[in-house]
Amino acid sequence: MKKITFFILILLCACNKEKAKETSKQAPKQIPEEASYFKDIKTNDVKLPKPSYGDWLFSHPEDGQTFEQYYRSKHIVPTKEENIIYIKPIGNFNSLQKKQIQLVNEYLELFFQLKTKTLEPISNDIVPNSARRMSTEGHEQLLAGYLLNDVLKEEKPENRIALMGLSELDLYPKPEWNYVFGLASYRDKVGVSSIYRFQDGELTAENFNLCLTRLLKTSSHEIGHMFGIHHCINADCVMNGTNSLSETDRSTIRLCSVCQRKLNSCIQYDNKKRLTDLDNFFKRNNLTEESDIMKKDISVIR
Ligand SMILES: [Zn+2]
Ligand SMILES: [Zn+2]
Repeated sequence: MKKITFFILILLCACNKEKAKETSKQAPKQIPEEASYFKDIKTNDVKLPKPSYGDWLFSHPEDGQTFEQYYRSKHIVPTKEENIIYIKPIGNFNSLQKKQIQLVNEYLELFFQLKTKTLEPISNDIVPNSARRMSTEGHEQLLAGYLLNDVLKEEKPENRIALMGLSELDLYPKPEWNYVFGLASYRDKVGVSSIYRFQDGELTAENFNLCLTRLLKTSSHEIGHMFGIHHCINADCVMNGTNSLSETDRSTIRLCSVCQRKLNSCIQYDNKKRLTDLDNFFKRNNLTEESDIMKKDISVIR
């Protein structure tokens, strides 16, 4: 019996807990007027199809999160003391995998328009035998919770706003589960994902960009959660919940107009510059489809 895709469920639960804590006694914050940029790009929002069996929304009906709900929620905002996103590689990565990590770093810096740095990798040896096992498929796996609680939460690099561990080895969340793509704690702004399943066995020149887009979507999605953005049901969006790799592959890399407005209310950057930076990144890396998506948004800005 195969159980899969546990991680997004965990992210969602953590997310809801924070939402429950938001009841504040202060007067509600005045909602800022919607800037013309968001109205312009709204024309490119693609409505989500009716969920089919196997899709995230089929098994997890969600209410979504309006801009107003986001704006009034308690979430982190970059400050002078907390403004750097960190990546922590865990394991021994080959040169192609190192290139992926470098590109994820570049991408996150453009996506969030915040300085992003990669820390020195740590060896898998840091994980004790009690937190690792051989999978039924015959490869080694690490306990995701150990990496999260005993390794990553202890990392406190300068000006950290969010930290994303990236594991070379496959992860499992509990003895009874086969595997997990990743695990995160919103409260601590720390998450861990594994590259293992994104590369379909082995990373090669042929599947390099497929693995890369999976990493880009997953890492921006998870860090988006750390900034308080919940799952999106407004449109096809990188913040949509996904139930499987194939659903992740089908979903877009783009933040919809509502989620872009949320992010921009949290991090004050120039929206057009962000799109242009992302478009250039996609062009440099031969991600043509993704580049076209950015161009489409750029073309409708008045
Ligand atoms: Zn999620
Ligand atoms: Zn969205």
